[in-house]
Amino acid sequence: MIKLLDPSVAEKIAAGEVIERPASVVKELVENSLDAGATEVRVLLEDGGKSLIEVLDNGFGMSASDLALSIQRHATSKLSTIQELETLHSLGFRGEALASIAAVTDISLLSTPQDGQGAYEIRGTSRNWSGPEPVTFGDYLGSPHGTRIQARGLFSQVPARLKFLKSQGAEVSQVRDWMERLAASHPQTGFRLLSETKTIFSVRSSSEAARIRAVLTDNSDSPMISVTEGPMRLHWLQGVSLPQARKIIQVVNGRATRDRMIQQAILGAFRQLLLPGQFPAIGVFIEVNPSELDVNVHPTKSEVRFLNSGKIFSAIHALVGSLVNRHGAPVHVPSSHPRFVFQARDTGAQAEPTSWLSPTLSDMPSSPPPPTDLSLSQTEPPAVAAPESNGLGFSPGNYVGSLFNTYLLFDLGQELGLLDQHAAHERIRYEELHSRFMTGEIHSQALLIPESVPLPPSFNDNPQGLEKTMALLNATGFDVEGFGDQSLLFRGVPAGWGDRDLRVRLRNLVGRVTEPELLTTLDAQSVLQDERMFEALASQACHSSVRAGDKLETLEAQTLLKRLFQCKHPWNCPHGRPTLAKVPRARLEEWFLRRV
Ligand code: ADP
Ligand code: MG
Repeated sequence: MIKLLDPSVAEKIAAGEVIERPASVVKELVENSLDAGATEVRVLLEDGGKSLIEVLDNGFGMSASDLALSIQRHATSKLSTIQELETLHSLGFRGEALASIAAVTDISLLSTPQDGQGAYEIRGTSRNWSGPEPVTFGDYLGSPHGTRIQARGLFSQVPARLKFLKSQGAEVSQVRDWMERLAASHPQTGFRLLSETKTIFSVRSSSEAARIRAVLTDNSDSPMISVTEGPMRLHWLQGVSLPQARKIIQVVNGRATRDRMIQQAILGAFRQLLLPGQFPAIGVFIEVNPSELDVNVHPTKSEVRFLNSGKIFSAIHALVGSLVNRHGAPVHVPSSHPRFVFQARDTGAQAEPTSWLSPTLSDMPSSPPPPTDLSLSQTEPPAVAAPESNGLGFSPGNYVGSLFNTYLLFDLGQELGLLDQHAAHERIRYEELHSRFMTGEIHSQALLIPESVPLPPSFNDNPQGLEKTMALLNATGFDVEGFGDQSLLFRGVPAGWGDRDLRVRLRNLVGRVTEPELLTTLDAQSVLQDERMFEALASQACHSSVRAGDKLETLEAQTLLKRLFQCKHPWNCPHGRPTLAKVPRARLEEWFLRRV
């Protein structure tokens, strides 16, 4: 039997789309404060927001009649026709946040508008409201106008949601994440987050670069590289890698988002450069014409849709990629002392050409001037770099020897330079193989003793699988034939693949290639263009690289350095470990008490 839901039940269900946890309440309320032109926003949480969320702003406030309307569903002052969605500049427009919050909390809205008509408050829950009552309320954050919203007992009437709330600490940290994103998107506004009486996050009005630095770094001293290109501005904290993606900040047209496409474009550019499970600290700001952006794809508006998402994807990928290639990848720095951070310096190379800029993109509103406090120009190119040196001081001529048969040592004048011989060799091999692979210049090299490799048991009754595996491998420079119906016989491997630990590496490779995900989606014609196949092959090739523990002659060590700096990305091995590090001379002097 169908029946109409009781409106208060319907409201609570609808609220579920917008409000999931305290962080969603905070996000909606702070966005309202920003839309109201607030220059200061203060958020207070009790019990992680479960018992109280209070947002106080010094925005333009609401009149008594607006207060009464504001908590109705689809009540908004920001939009009246559907066409206005195309030119939208406010963060809100759906008119459902306050209604949703009111449906799942006990709420109080108190506001003093700019017109000097005095303060009014309304209180209530769901459909049971007090009318606007005049109240006295002092200055809001030093301003005579503004709004204070208090939401108590989140989900106390919605047990299905209440049980999904986490510990106080976990909820506070989610609120903090959103506050940081919102703070990054509105640098001129001051923000403060308090949990009980403790200040969790506090920033004053500042420039974009200073704000993003405050948000990304927790005030660490890592160098930040800023670059502006076309519709995008990037701020990247070099040398930092983190175990979560919290410090990947996205801002699209002033709106803090958590868009999957943008996230993938950023992370794609860091592939190989970070250890698995590590993430960069980076802020990506994108400005597009509002008519090329759909912000109405998600009730919480945290995802967006671009008219030309392919272009935006490649643009982000290319810009982040060129930045990373030029400046080195983040190095995992253990927090214990002593702390040696390798900082790559700008080699003076130019950014990649902006061929990705389509006419429509370049027509977009111009972005704010580049930040002044920490931009590219501060990492000036080196004055006298030797040809095969690299702006970092490493050169064959200052090689001084090797340590533990693992690290090559270079005297850089004021620093001790270290090169991890295994990581460096992996990088060199990886790039060599990659260029040969992509240009199809793959030759096979016969093995003295052919190697047989068993196929997985799933191949028992699968002659097509066997054929396909052989075709893929033969197309990538192996010389393989069937050996019974249970094994492959390798007569040759791609030149340069090396013969160390051959049996294990071939088994690993066959294991990877016969995974259904690869085997069913690849074909022998296009296999050379496929990154996954290349990675499968290259990851095994790397295992045969010079190992830690191998003794290198001077000439070999010098050649290794030269070839490393011919690589597109010399800073890391393909798995993300750093290849280079520096220890300042001053640090050694501290150890020997030459300086205190
Ligand atoms: P939306 O933001 O989508 O318009 P909301 O439900 O979040 O919808 O808010 C409804 C309306 O209440 C807003 O359009 C705005 O006019 C008003 N409002 C909400 N919060 C504030 C605030 N902090 N200061 C001034 N006006 C506000
Ligand atoms: Mg809103």
